[in-house]
Amino acid sequence: MPGPMKTKVLVVGGGPGGYVAAIRAGQLGLDTVLVEADKLGGTCLIRGCIPSKALIHAADDYAALLEKVGTGKMGISISAPPKLDLAATTAWKETVVGKLNTGVKALLKKAHVKVVEGFARFTDAKTCEVETAQGVQTIVAENVILATGSVPVELPFLPFGGDVISSTEALSLTELPKKLVVVGAGYIGLELGIAFRKLGSEVTVVEALPNILPLYDAELIAPVQAWLKEHGVTGYEVNDLGTGLRMLQAGRVDFWLGSEVSARFVIRAMQGPVPRALYSYGQLELHMACHLGTPAPIVERLNAGLEQMRRDGELAAFGVR
Ligand SMILES: Cc1cc2nc3c(=O)[nH]c(=O)nc-3n(C[C@H](O)[C@H](O)[C@H](O)COP(=O)(O)OP(=O)(O)OC[C@H]3O[C@@H](n4cnc5c(N)ncnc54)[C@H](O)[C@@H]3O)c2cc1C
Repeated sequence: MPGPMKTKVLVVGGGPGGYVAAIRAGQLGLDTVLVEADKLGGTCLIRGCIPSKALIHAADDYAALLEKVGTGKMGISISAPPKLDLAATTAWKETVVGKLNTGVKALLKKAHVKVVEGFARFTDAKTCEVETAQGVQTIVAENVILATGSVPVELPFLPFGGDVISSTEALSLTELPKKLVVVGAGYIGLELGIAFRKLGSEVTVVEALPNILPLYDAELIAPVQAWLKEHGVTGYEVNDLGTGLRMLQAGRVDFWLGSEVSARFVIRAMQGPVPRALYSYGQLELHMACHLGTPAPIVERLNAGLEQMRRDGELAAFGVR
């Protein structure tokens, strides 16, 4: 079992929030430890922004080639339709992700940040235990930066498993789904839906609010809406996701939405707003039920707990979101 580690700065989470903070702390000469439970790079580099943009890039290339079949476009033509091997596309995406993961490792090393691999759980405000491959590593820190990010949200009536997948699994599919339903028409849902449509899937988008991209201006939404219409992406607005959208049959995904839609995959494309700091601060007995509607009281309890620790002078923790 490794001996206890003492550090000036402890960063929990190796996503863009955490690794940037750790690199800066290291560059400033502070003794810094970063704990990451999964891969350095976090959601953005490993299973979010970068892989989704890689998939979009491949989908754009594929769609552009399709336009050139037969009589062609811009004087460029190809005689046969292009072939898609999604397993190879996913493998290519993994190489892109792998390079970025290696790059983050190198930057942390250059800034003299010590990296500990494992899930951090706090036993008090400044001490955490990490279950590493070598045993439990205790880390005592003067200052803590929590950059634990978010997780895909599970809808209680549509739990993940089988054909119900999150954006993470959607970005690692090896076979193109003929039909898929995307639940959540925010930017994540739409960028995935549009990419799969360009690759050839039939796509249905479900959104509880009156508009797609609810957080964006009308001027930005209009061209996206026009694209969806032009490319036959079906849209459903369901006032109450809980009753308007439900699984009718296990194994095969059918939905009741006024009419029935069947699909090979359902992608739940929403990230949970509650940071995993709640899990890490398990000592406060805060157990996050990652369901829509439950986070607010839990966040209040976490905040109250952290506030008390701050008042008692026990806590020097900062959150990065
Ligand atoms: C499909 C998709 C596409 C996206 N596209 C974009 C985009 O185009 N542009 C954009 O700006 N944003 C995009 N985002 C959002 C972006 O990924 C997040 O905003 C960003 O990753 C948040 O960074 P973070 O460091 O706060 O958290 P994260 O990147 O989630 O990193 C948190 C890290 O903490 C680790 N961790 C959590 N708890 C513990 C613990 N207790 N112990 C150890 N490690 C722990 C996790 O393993 C994770 O690696 C996208 C997200 C998704 C899902």
